[in-house]
Amino acid sequence: MRAFGTTIFAEMSALAAQTGSINLGQGFPDTDGPAAMLDRAVQAIGSGLNQYPPGPGTLELRQAVSEHRLAHYGLTYAADGEILVTVGATEAIAATVLALCEPGDEVIAFEPYYDSYAASIALAGARLTAVTMRPVDGRFTFDPDELRAAVTPRTKAILVNSPHNPTGTVFTRAELTAIAGLCQEAGLIAITDEVYEHLTFDGVEHIPLATLPGMRERTVMISSAGKTFSVTGWKTGWVCAPAPLVRAVNTVKQFLTYTASAPWQLAVAYGLRQELEWVAALRSGLQDKRDRLMEGLAAAGFEVLRPSGTYFVQTDIRPLGFTDGMDLARRLPELAGVVAIPTQVFYEHPERGTHFVRFAFCKKDEVIDEAVTRLKRLSA
Ligand code: PMP
Ligand code: GLN
Repeated sequence: MRAFGTTIFAEMSALAAQTGSINLGQGFPDTDGPAAMLDRAVQAIGSGLNQYPPGPGTLELRQAVSEHRLAHYGLTYAADGEILVTVGATEAIAATVLALCEPGDEVIAFEPYYDSYAASIALAGARLTAVTMRPVDGRFTFDPDELRAAVTPRTKAILVNSPHNPTGTVFTRAELTAIAGLCQEAGLIAITDEVYEHLTFDGVEHIPLATLPGMRERTVMISSAGKTFSVTGWKTGWVCAPAPLVRAVNTVKQFLTYTASAPWQLAVAYGLRQELEWVAALRSGLQDKRDRLMEGLAAAGFEVLRPSGTYFVQTDIRPLGFTDGMDLARRLPELAGVVAIPTQVFYEHPERGTHFVRFAFCKKDEVIDEAVTRLKRLSA
């Protein structure tokens, strides 16, 4: 794992703290989740729910996830056997890849990709094959022919993240249909990372890959509470899949962490059942913040790409006269008192993302405004 060093999020958040910069790097909100849900966690601790919950997770959360999947997507997963609670989506992804891949197997992921994918695949001794997403009319997408060409006899799985971090793309039904067709032809398992499932804008809806014909049986669907309820520090996630796949994932998961923390599980069950109106308000608030940050970044001289989901905006830094996003990200605290994420670290082919920098907009309006004011120094 030497090659993996320190994650870009840790590096950039430390840089923000050291320099007193505004942190639009690591994606975490600066406001809290729904108050009643936070109270539930406190109550759970106060009422003695402080010992190991069952390995697969607290039944109440598994039931709440099952109800939520059915109500939102028409998907049926049995609380007993088809749902597994994990320590965030991160553990779910790692346990799934470790469970399904033998050394030498190949896993396809769309680059730029969330950094834990490459690390989890490396831990399994497997190989990552990256299919590049590129901006077409201002929206990052992939070429279905390149995707098809990435499949070899060793390809075991494809990791599909929609809404997609770091580009903000929400895959369309046509894009998902291309992925689904390939999975069925080549016998691949789809591992879907849907942690931003509720954070979509402009009326764009998230479509889970598992809802496409023939996909439920070959999809390991992953999500978590962090983004939906603004509790990224709770690290409560889940896997939904047919029982044999969940059994395989749990076989690994039980030796990574055995089980996830008890109090958060009850609180998240409450959130999924009672706080979806709060989530709807979060989503429309985030859409306004997206527009606010996009407008500000454009005024500061960046070329801005419009995301349909997540809470990240991609910018092209070349109009400001910069060419290397890593170099700019490291100098940004000194140049402008702001921290951002260089997108190139999320590529197998970093040269394809050299000129992109990611900014997060899950921040208070005044924080976004101050960051934009500071960034205007870049062109001054
Ligand atoms: N996948 C993506 C695409 C993410 O952006 C993140 C970061 N929240 C995760 C997974 C990890 O989620 P969690 O914090 O629930 O482990
Ligand atoms: N998901 C968050 C992001 O992309 C950060 C997660 C992390 O710090 N590992 O910014």
